[in-house]
Amino acid sequence: MSKKIGTKCVHSGNIVDDKFHGSISPIYPATTYDYRKTDTYPRYFNTPNQLALSRKISDLESAEDSILFGSGLGAVSSTMFSFLKSGDHVILHDSIYGGTINLVNTEFKKFNIDFSYIDINDVDLLKSTIKKNTRIIYFETPTNPLLQIVDISLISSLAKENNIISIIDNTFASPINQNPINFGIDLVIHSATKYLGGHSDILAGSVSGAKEHIDKIKKSGINYGANLSDYTVWLLERSIKTLSVRVNAQNQNALDLAKFLDENSLIKKVFYPGLVNHLSHEIASKQMKGFGGMMSFEVTDKINSEDFVSDLKIISPTMSLAGVESSITSPSKTSHKKVDPQIRKKLGISDNLLRFSVGIEDIEDLMLDLDKSLKNNVR
Ligand SMILES: *Cc1c(COP(=O)(O)O)cnc(C)c1O
Repeated sequence: MSKKIGTKCVHSGNIVDDKFHGSISPIYPATTYDYRKTDTYPRYFNTPNQLALSRKISDLESAEDSILFGSGLGAVSSTMFSFLKSGDHVILHDSIYGGTINLVNTEFKKFNIDFSYIDINDVDLLKSTIKKNTRIIYFETPTNPLLQIVDISLISSLAKENNIISIIDNTFASPINQNPINFGIDLVIHSATKYLGGHSDILAGSVSGAKEHIDKIKKSGINYGANLSDYTVWLLERSIKTLSVRVNAQNQNALDLAKFLDENSLIKKVFYPGLVNHLSHEIASKQMKGFGGMMSFEVTDKINSEDFVSDLKIISPTMSLAGVESSITSPSKTSHKKVDPQIRKKLGISDNLLRFSVGIEDIEDLMLDLDKSLKNNVR
C-alpha cells in the first residue's frame, strides 16, 4: 500500500530505536567508526541519520535516492559540477535564484563551461539554444519573485529527447505541492533552509533522483565536502514530520490572502499561481497539488511601500522565506538590489513590488495586519 504524503512526512525513513525503544530516530553523530566493520564517515554521506533523512526525502519526492548538503547552494553547486566538464554548455531559465546566478556567472567561466540564460517557456527558443555540448537544463517553478510557472513535462521531454540532464530547484513548491520526478525530471533540488526546515533555523540542501545520478553526485560530493552535520540532519528530519500540515496551512492562507489582496483597490497586482487570473494558472493546476505559500504583489502609487512594510505588526520584514512566521521583503532592495534598474523594470520587478512568504498564523490576524497597514499609509 502506498502511503499518503502526510504519513510519509511522519514515518518514512525513520530509524527504529530497537535498543531503548524510544519513538523517534536516535541521533548518531559519531565521526569515527570501527574500520573492521564499516566505512561509515559523515563526509561519505553514509551515517545512519543521513541515510534515514535521505530515505524520507526520497519518499516525499518519489525518488530512488537522495543526498544531503550543508546548504541549498551546496546542493546546487555539487550537483552541477558532478555532471559538468570543461567545454560543456548549460541552459538556465532566466529567472532563477540569485545565488545560483552568482555561482554560474563567477565560477563556470573559470572552468570554461558555457551557459545561456533564456526564457525556457519559449519552446522554440529553447530548441534553438540546445547545442551538441548542452549537458544540463536548469530551472525553477514557481519562480522568485514573480511566481512564474514553467511547464515541467515540456522541459523534461525536450531534455530526454536530446539526452540532456534536467534539474529543477523545487524549493518554492516543496514536495507537498509538486513532485517533478513524476513529470520526468531527472534531479530535484531543495534548499531545505526553506520549507523542509520551515522554522527559519536550519541551513541545508538536498538532491533527489535516480540512484545512478545520486551515486555520481556522491562520488564527486565526497571530494567537495559540502556535507550537512548530523545534528542538523536530525533536526531537519524532525522538522519534516510537520511539513505536510505546515505547507497545507500555508497553501490555504496564501490562497485566501491572494484573493483578499486581489480585491483591494490599494493593490495594483497580485502574483499567485492559485489565482484564476494568473497567466499560467492552468499549467500550475496541472502540475501542482497546492499553489504554495509564496506570492508577490505590487502596491499602487497611493501607498508608500516602505512605510506599509514598517507598519506591519505580525508580518515581519525578513529576507528569507518559508518559515511558519509570515514575512515580507522588497526584491528591489534585497535579492535584485544589484540588478540594473532598467533590467529590473524589464523583468517586472518594480520598487512597489513586495514578496510575501505566508506563514501559518490565523488568517484573520494576517488580513487585519495587511488591511490596517495599507489604510494607515495612503498618501
Ligand atoms: C534559498 C534558496 C536557495 C539557496 O539555498 P541556501 O540554503 O540559502 O543555500 C536556492 N534556491 C532557492 C529557490 C532558494 O530560495
